[in-house]
Amino acid sequence: MEFIVCKFGGTSVATKETLQQIAHILDLKPNRRCVVVSAPGKAKGVSVKVTDLLIKATQKALANQDASAEISGVKDRFRGIYEPLGLKKDVVEAVLEDFDARISAPRDHAGKFRDLVVAGGEDVNARLFAEFLKHTGKKATYVSPKDAGMIVTPTFGDAQPIDEIALKLAGLKKICSQQIVVFPGFFGVTREGDVATFSRGGSDLTGSILAEALDAVEYENWTDVDGIFSANPNTVENPLQIPALTYKEMRELSYIGFNVLHEEAVRPIMRKKIPIRLRNTFNLDNPGTLILSERLPSQRDVTGIASGGGYCSFTLQKFLMNREKGFVRRLLSILEDLNLSYEHCPSGVDNISIILDQNQLKPEDVNNIIRLIDVTLKPDDIKAEFGIALVAVVGEGLLHKIGVLSQSAAALSNAGVNIKMCNQGSSEISMIFGIDASDETKAVNALYQEFFK
Ligand code: ASP
Repeated sequence: MEFIVCKFGGTSVATKETLQQIAHILDLKPNRRCVVVSAPGKAKGVSVKVTDLLIKATQKALANQDASAEISGVKDRFRGIYEPLGLKKDVVEAVLEDFDARISAPRDHAGKFRDLVVAGGEDVNARLFAEFLKHTGKKATYVSPKDAGMIVTPTFGDAQPIDEIALKLAGLKKICSQQIVVFPGFFGVTREGDVATFSRGGSDLTGSILAEALDAVEYENWTDVDGIFSANPNTVENPLQIPALTYKEMRELSYIGFNVLHEEAVRPIMRKKIPIRLRNTFNLDNPGTLILSERLPSQRDVTGIASGGGYCSFTLQKFLMNREKGFVRRLLSILEDLNLSYEHCPSGVDNISIILDQNQLKPEDVNNIIRLIDVTLKPDDIKAEFGIALVAVVGEGLLHKIGVLSQSAAALSNAGVNIKMCNQGSSEISMIFGIDASDETKAVNALYQEFFK
């Protein structure tokens, strides 16, 4: 059987009704055999995610404060979802006791303790959801990441799957061929047996790892939106939904602004070229957005327009800069020494700019960067600028296509937007413009009109 791995995000598992909807979704395709669940997220009338409550509980516990209110809040949340679904009280309570064990675990290693408690949201949800599926007459079982072989690095709060993870998890195929597997997202177990979570939103990564291990025909990622749109719906009115795009295009779009999948979730899937389909749990009529390894002939040349603010630039002028050996290396090592990463580095004959995400800067960094550049590189001039937005025109169709840059530049200039920087990587998948942050909305709308209307 060719399995579909389905991951359901926080809002899809937030209430009794949404869980019933998932059971219905599973009925629609019998090969939806591997279900990854997040912890219950926000819902109507519920403003806190279970994961956030658990994080608060660990913070309190680590500060030797009483975390019982948070733990009770989490338990009540699960009771409120699963008891009305018909699960027996004692079955629910037996699973919920797990939270007491977690919060009472040793606290000598803060990261280990935190991950153990926080992972409880997904783990308990997977166990209870499997019980619910059984209760509805389906053949289903909870599988623990430990038993399955979801082995991760001991980098608590930011664990990574080990290289040979697909092999470790291969045993899941047999279980999936017999019944529906319910697997908790967001965490794995280290070789030493400690629970370690991925970074936030990491259930996407769990789904992707399982899709690779099961050689799935498709990885369905179910959320509460119809799919990916060609521009941010908060910036452009009613942007078109993207029917299909490539992994690379998604990476470029999510680099600035597009919040699609957890960044690391594409890697395992890419290795086996498994399609990802983003679907809306609450709108089954919409086919969603398909993410593939290769471009479809039906795709537009430009797939989407992404944008994001919060960047700054340092621009250096130095006469005969091009003849000075090691100039850029020394410039970048200044940033490296200050533990800063850079985004772009456009250059001219006698000038170079480095564009950084300004959120990573500590207050003292700006002066330090300028001082160190002055001393090390002796530029004729150096200028720092803040409040820059980046706007990207993304599409694999840009490859070898003539005129997209001139079309984009004309659209921006007609809208009265000044281009401060323009960068097209040699992959020719995206064209990035640096503009004044106050022009961001205007620029995105102008580019959207140009390529999508
Ligand atoms: N529950 C975790 C979070 O809120 C992981 C996830 O939902 O993907 O980040």
